[in-house]
Amino acid sequence: MEVRMIINEQLERIYPEMVSWRRYLHEHPELSFQEVNTARFIAEKLEQMGIEITRNVGGHGIVGRLKGEKAGPVVALRADMDALPIQDEKDCAYASKISGRMHACGHDGHIAGLLGAAYVLSRMKEHLHGSILFLFQPAEEVNPGGAERMVAEGALDGVDVIYGVHLWSQFPVGKVYSVTGPMMAAADEFLIEISGKGGHGGVPQESIDSILVGSQLVVNLQTIVSRNVDPTSAAVVSVGSFHSGSSFNVIADRCKLSGTVRTFDEQIRRRIEERIHEITAHTCAMHGAQYEWNYIRGYPAVVNDATETQRFFRVAADLFGNEQVERSPLSMAGEDFSYYLQSIPGCYMFVGAGNPDKGIVAPHHHPEFDIDERSILHAARLMIHLSLDYMNEAWQTRSLAQE
Ligand SMILES: [Zn+2]
Ligand SMILES: [Zn+2]
Repeated sequence: MEVRMIINEQLERIYPEMVSWRRYLHEHPELSFQEVNTARFIAEKLEQMGIEITRNVGGHGIVGRLKGEKAGPVVALRADMDALPIQDEKDCAYASKISGRMHACGHDGHIAGLLGAAYVLSRMKEHLHGSILFLFQPAEEVNPGGAERMVAEGALDGVDVIYGVHLWSQFPVGKVYSVTGPMMAAADEFLIEISGKGGHGGVPQESIDSILVGSQLVVNLQTIVSRNVDPTSAAVVSVGSFHSGSSFNVIADRCKLSGTVRTFDEQIRRRIEERIHEITAHTCAMHGAQYEWNYIRGYPAVVNDATETQRFFRVAADLFGNEQVERSPLSMAGEDFSYYLQSIPGCYMFVGAGNPDKGIVAPHHHPEFDIDERSILHAARLMIHLSLDYMNEAWQTRSLAQE
């Protein structure tokens, strides 16, 4: 109990600085894989806290390592760093100073929250049974992004568990959310180009009508979710673009279409990819048309570990009260935290950052996006206490084993 009070006091003390860090970053957004100044800013703060750092991990990523005074497991905490190519339309003192760029997803708040957590944890080294890695990850907003590269460059070597949060403006500030198993979808893209044979609109027997083939293909693709996917599982196949033809009396020789696939399960994901290819091949063959196709895999689904999600529910209820902790609805958005969770156990969480009373209602990636800055404090508290809980449990298990 006493440790918690010290942590709360320290967090409240550093909170104004966390807000000023967030606002500085908000004014100076950098796009994916261009986070040079952001990385410099983070490195400087971590070094001031006496935390050892490694630069340029997976791009401009920074890994901070805090070694506790006692032996124990390694816990990783992650924040993403990049902004978006969006014009900031907020009317406030800390609006983006760079035209056409904006922190419209809250990653500035993620950085400030994790720096705040690092500050507090760095001042209680003598209580830490193990080490904490602070992963500041570049390029979450593009595919392929920074997480996959950080993992490939060994950022998770020797790490036992990982936690990450996303501040979420569509959830009220004060509340926190997660769910065991799939939480955010795998988001893939497909592109199909059908080649028929052009001709006179009045002489169809001499042509292969790519608009007819494409139209049948769109209808046939809609049978995948309804006929090939277990009805108790969630999946989406949407055709989002369809381009063909240019004149009323010409049979079009080409038809281009593209779409997105959203899934939570790797097997279903593979099955859908296969079925899109089969249906395209057979629909085209039926008419003697040719095709080219491309299936581009986005981030895999974010799948939370059961034990670590239970830890979230227990720790969060203890910190914020039962009524503030919710089971997260599934999100069809993608997030490359999934790559960490494919390597080691962990838990991804949403921290409520919306506040209709203050007019903070815009969704993510919106030109008026903002957060209630108290959410940064909640994110930091959550990450600190999850780390301590994990370390203390490992320490207790080991002491019991030694008795
Ligand atoms: Zn985003
Ligand atoms: Zn984001």
